[in-house]
Amino acid sequence: MIADFEYFAPKTVKEALSLLSQYKDAKIIAGGQSLLVILKQRLVTPEYLIDIKGIAALDYIKYDEGKGLRIGALTLHRAIEKSPVIKKHFGVLSEMEGNLATIQTRNWGTIGGNICHGDPAGDPAPVFIALKAKLKLARLGGERILDMEEFSKDYLEVALDPGEMLSEIQLPIPPPHTGVASEKLMVMKGDMGIVGAAVSITLSPRDGVCQDARIALSNCASTPLRAKKAEKVLIGKNINEGLLTKAGEVASEEVDPPADVHGSAEYRREMVKVFVRRAAIKALERARAA
Ligand SMILES: Cc1cc2nc3c(=O)[nH]c(=O)nc-3n(C[C@H](O)[C@H](O)[C@H](O)COP(=O)(O)OP(=O)(O)OC[C@H]3O[C@@H](n4cnc5c(N)ncnc54)[C@H](O)[C@@H]3O)c2cc1C
Repeated sequence: MIADFEYFAPKTVKEALSLLSQYKDAKIIAGGQSLLVILKQRLVTPEYLIDIKGIAALDYIKYDEGKGLRIGALTLHRAIEKSPVIKKHFGVLSEMEGNLATIQTRNWGTIGGNICHGDPAGDPAPVFIALKAKLKLARLGGERILDMEEFSKDYLEVALDPGEMLSEIQLPIPPPHTGVASEKLMVMKGDMGIVGAAVSITLSPRDGVCQDARIALSNCASTPLRAKKAEKVLIGKNINEGLLTKAGEVASEEVDPPADVHGSAEYRREMVKVFVRRAAIKALERARAA
């Protein structure tokens, strides 16, 4: 059973932030898809729940050719999956969402809730890291911008200070000749990934050499993990089959995966080789076609 709590349903960001600063033992609830599970397990027992789902101002997808993409924290997974502007300019996000949970969960769970839950198995974080996303964190009277890469601190722990909430995810326009792809190992479509990989590759238009690469992994450590050594295998090279295999092998040495009913740590390491390679092949094809 869930422990008793007092419930608030603010209608504006300011109201929510003011409640957050007033009640120290408060927890935000958005779609409740993750929070309800840990409330029932009593992993968290807040005295106050601040339900932000009714704050319409945080539900938006905005695209600007200069500034890039901005997604409000309360945007539903399903809205991201279906958004024409996201399909056109950030297709990898739409693909990732199409494999995230069931339609029911995507229709109620929010992108902000997913990121703030801090589950290292979550699908969006590696894709956002590959896309160099930044997060806007609001507090009463101010805000700060943080790289997505720095947001996860440990298992279910993120870099939100007391009184802060996530208000927006910001994605810059990728440079020309960039391809991005994500792949996850799942037993059935929509399962949490046993491991997942997101890869971004930028090629030089002159000679096709890899100018930049980003490789980010899910469920391979206590936080989403950037495989920086594997990225270096690709950067500055004319990418070929051998290098793609090598990048997967190097990534598998950078991870510290969990072992659970879905797979041993050893199995996950092997799968990192496969899924980094698979995502990198797709990213490379897209970069060449871009
Ligand atoms: C059956 C099922 C299958 C799933 N499968 C997948 C999957 O395949 N891949 C995947 O990535 N995820 C999966 N999930 C997780 C799902 O994506 C998340 O539960 C959902 O996105 C969380 O969003 P929410 O709005 O429900 O957040 P909530 O559950 O309401 O909140 C989650 C956490 O985030 C905090 N929070 C929420 N919004 C904010 C904010 N704006 N600012 C600060 N803190 C905030 C809350 O305090 C809480 O700690 C699955 C969930 C279920 C139930």
